[in-house]
Amino acid sequence: MDPVTDSLHEMHQRLSALREGKVADYIPQLALADPDDFGVALVSMAGHVYRAGKADTPFSIQSVSKPFVYALALSDLGPQELLRHVGVEPSGNPFNAISLEPDTGRPANPMINAGAIATTALVRESDPAARFARIRAFLSAFAGRELDVDEDVYASEAATGDRNRALAYLMHSAGSLHADPEETVDTYFRQCSVRVTATDLAVMAATLANGGRNPVTGNQVVSEPIVVRTLAVMASCGMYDGAGQWLLDIGLPAKSGVSGGLIAASPARFGVAIYSPPLDPSGNPVRAVAALGEVSERFGLHIMHMPGLRAATVTGAERLERDGRSIGVVTAQGSLEFTETEALMHALRQVTPSAPGWVVLDLTAVSAVLRGPAVGLAAVLADLAERGHHVAVAAQQTFVEAAEGRPRTWEVFSTRADALAWCLEGPAPAPQE
Ligand code: GLU
Repeated sequence: MDPVTDSLHEMHQRLSALREGKVADYIPQLALADPDDFGVALVSMAGHVYRAGKADTPFSIQSVSKPFVYALALSDLGPQELLRHVGVEPSGNPFNAISLEPDTGRPANPMINAGAIATTALVRESDPAARFARIRAFLSAFAGRELDVDEDVYASEAATGDRNRALAYLMHSAGSLHADPEETVDTYFRQCSVRVTATDLAVMAATLANGGRNPVTGNQVVSEPIVVRTLAVMASCGMYDGAGQWLLDIGLPAKSGVSGGLIAASPARFGVAIYSPPLDPSGNPVRAVAALGEVSERFGLHIMHMPGLRAATVTGAERLERDGRSIGVVTAQGSLEFTETEALMHALRQVTPSAPGWVVLDLTAVSAVLRGPAVGLAAVLADLAERGHHVAVAAQQTFVEAAEGRPRTWEVFSTRADALAWCLEGPAPAPQE
């Protein structure tokens, strides 16, 4: 076995002994779940899947569907329009509470039932069957395989779902649900009854952690800005009325469901899912809360945690004197985000010749550049040119594309040698006094 699987197994074995919590029984089919079922799965950004215990036991997705359907409605309506219909504030109330704004009837957030029912109704399709087909296909794309519906859970849920019907009728009468309440809850019941395993959920969580690209299939399921919004709502509202404590202790965007499923996404690291039916008083799976607490602590995953400094970005900063010319050369590697670019700009200032001369920025080992930093860097280069320096950038397309739209005041070369050769072209300048 590999070390990741080893540590999942060790944790799984230890936490199997936890006997607290109660299996949900308000939907009769859910009461049949085995409290000893316990599965863990983790999927890395490279698409590697690690499992322990009953990671392939099927169960109904329940509320873990909510963030994904929210992402679907976001891509259909856009953030501003969706916000008019469904809020983004934690309600502090249980999942099935009547958390509606007094004046408008707008539900507090999409992670509780009222908000989820309203969100389901907003998925843009002509009729309920097409709407559910689209939801199922979307969930399947996240999981990387065709998901089906547990018809027994669906029937059980539909037979006992009066509270959800009541929520839908309330929203309809308040003017915050613009679709047929019966049809809407029926679609919502089907959505909750989609059958998944912990492994499926881990792939779905990993797709969120990976900016919307399923790391197993390689498909871009949804765009990155939509993932950012979805993860933010999960972080503030994903864990029922235990959301604040969860963010404090574990610090990862997550969503749980009454059947005992839970997902958590650690952006750019991995997606993790747990299946364990006994729930704590807030409705969160007891073993999952304990397991995620350990994982987050062990790997320093809390989103407020100060990450260790990354490998050096600036790998060289020097002033060359060649042929009577002063050439400042800065070399960088890796990915340029705010912190890295700030260090790079500082290095540029250090090596820039005092009198008009030459500056070479070697970005050939830079793998990615965010647009904001690229634009900032382009402004610094423009300033150098304005002060009379000849500026050469050796870079892959990444930087050139990210800085697109800025006036190009520098020459671009594909290698450092070409950039340096350009500095030495033409007659040598007259010696400075
Ligand atoms: N189908 C469930 C309900 O609405 C989902 C609840 C949940 O998982 O929180 O009652």
